[in-house]
Amino acid sequence: MSLHAIRPWRTIERRRSRQIMVGPVPVGGDAPISVQTMTNTLTTDVAATIAQVQACAEAGADIVRISTPDAESTRALREIVRESPVPIVADIHFHYRRAIEAAEAGAACLRINPGNIGSAERVREVVKAARDHGCSIRIGVNAGSLERHLLEKYAEPCPEAMVESALDHIRLLQDNDFHEFKVSAKASDVFLAAAAYQGLAEATDAPLHLGITEAGALMAGTVKSAIGMGNLLWAGIGDTIRVSLSADPVEEVRVGFEILKALGLRHRGVNIISCPSCARQGFDVIRTVETLERRLEHIKTSMSLSIIGCVVNGPGEALMTDIGFTGGGAGNGMVYVAGKQSHRMDNDSMIDHIVELVEKRAEEIEAEQAAAASGPRAAE
Ligand code: SF4
Repeated sequence: MSLHAIRPWRTIERRRSRQIMVGPVPVGGDAPISVQTMTNTLTTDVAATIAQVQACAEAGADIVRISTPDAESTRALREIVRESPVPIVADIHFHYRRAIEAAEAGAACLRINPGNIGSAERVREVVKAARDHGCSIRIGVNAGSLERHLLEKYAEPCPEAMVESALDHIRLLQDNDFHEFKVSAKASDVFLAAAAYQGLAEATDAPLHLGITEAGALMAGTVKSAIGMGNLLWAGIGDTIRVSLSADPVEEVRVGFEILKALGLRHRGVNIISCPSCARQGFDVIRTVETLERRLEHIKTSMSLSIIGCVVNGPGEALMTDIGFTGGGAGNGMVYVAGKQSHRMDNDSMIDHIVELVEKRAEEIEAEQAAAASGPRAAE
C-alpha cells in the first residue's frame, strides 16, 4: 500500500472556485494549491531581493510577493521581475500610481484594495493597467485594517465585517468588468480568520488566498498556521496559501508545503516518517533525521522514507514507504525497499547509504513518471 493511495477517508473535496492566472501559475479551479511567500529585503536592494526570491523559488515557492511602497521600489521591480524564476506580486497599499507602475514593471499580480485608493477614476486606471499588462489582482482584507464605517457598523473586527469589506472591493472590480481577482481575509486570530474565509467561500466563487496573518515566530506561527489554514484546507477551502512567520521567507515556504503535504494536497520532496525515539531506539533517531533532512533537501521528487528506532513500529511504517530503516540489531538495522525487507546495514554507514538509496529511487520514480507521460506509443 502506498502512503498516497486514494481512500475515501483521505480525500478532500475542494470548493469549486473560478480559476485566474498569476503569470503562468493558475490559481483556483482544479489547479494545485500554490505556495506563496513574501520577501523581507529592501526592494530597492535589487541584488538582495533577487537572491531571496531565488532561494524561495528553490524551496518550492510558486509565487513571491514584494512590497512596493514608493516609486524607487516599483523601478527596482522591473529588474527583479526579469530575474525572477517565479511570478511576482506587487504589494501596494493606498497609492494607485504604485499599482500602475508595478503593472508596467511586469508584476504578475497586484495586491491592492480598490476601495482604498480614493476614487472611481483611480480604480478605472488601475484596472486598465492590470488589463493592459496581464496582471491579476488580489483583494487583501485584513482584520487589523478594516474600513472605519464597517468598524462603526459592527463595533469590532468580525467575520461579517470582513466579508462585507471583501464584497465591497469585489464590486468595484466587477463594476469595471474585471474578474481576474482572488481574495484574502486574514486575521491573526484563527477563529476569526476561519469564519471569515468560510463566509467568503459561500459569498463568492473567486479563488481564495489563505493566510493567518502575523502568526508569530517559527514554531508558534507554524502551529497557528497549521491549525487555521489546515482546518480550512481540510474543508476544501483555499486555492493558494501564504504562511506568515517572523522568520526567513524560505521557512514560510517549507511550512506551507508541509501543511499541504500533511493533507495530501501537494507532494514535493521526501516525506520523512520518523518516531520520537525512546530507550528502545537502536540508533540516534533525532540526530539521524536532522542530518537526513539536510542531506535530502535537493530531492524534489515526491517519495517517502521511514526512519524508526526499533521493531515496535519500524516494520509497519516501512510497509508504507519507499525506503525504510528500522533499528534493532547490535549496531545495525534493517533496510526496507518498496515496503519489503532488503538487507541489514551498520548504523555508522546508514546515513550515506540511505541518501544513495533515496537518490536512486527518486531517479526511478522520475523515469517511471516520464514513461507514463509519454504514453504506450512512445514505448513501442
Ligand atoms: S518506534 Fe521504538 S524507538 Fe521509536 S519511539 Fe517507538 S518504541 Fe521507541
